[in-house]
Amino acid sequence: MAGTWGDYRKCTICGEYGWEKTHKCPPDWLVADLSDLPDAEADPDLWRKVHARDEAEAAQKFIERGDRRDAEFTEDAVVAVRDPRTGATAFYQVQGELVPEYRAEPLADLDTAKAEYKHLYGCDAF
Ligand SMILES: [Zn+2]
Repeated sequence: MAGTWGDYRKCTICGEYGWEKTHKCPPDWLVADLSDLPDAEADPDLWRKVHARDEAEAAQKFIERGDRRDAEFTEDAVVAVRDPRTGATAFYQVQGELVPEYRAEPLADLDTAKAEYKHLYGCDAF
């Protein structure tokens, strides 16, 4: 049942979660990879619209979403963020961090475990 603020849901415009009756989308920014800047100046379609609270968050979200034309994954990037309200452009360096992901798989027995250990470290476990 929906309360006073309506349902808590993901906004289809900005992608953020909020109460449907009180949610206001953060302002939109235009972001482009620095290497795309000359082309983006000629072709406004190359700027990606990103809803964010400020320029820094827009730059960060742009990289997180993998919006760059060059789909090749890089952790760090330099991007241009334009305020569509003023036309002012700011530049940001975005630094990423890879988070390791672990996955455990069962091994049949001690011998298999020891063999796997040796394969991994090049020496016997004990
Ligand atoms: Zn929204």
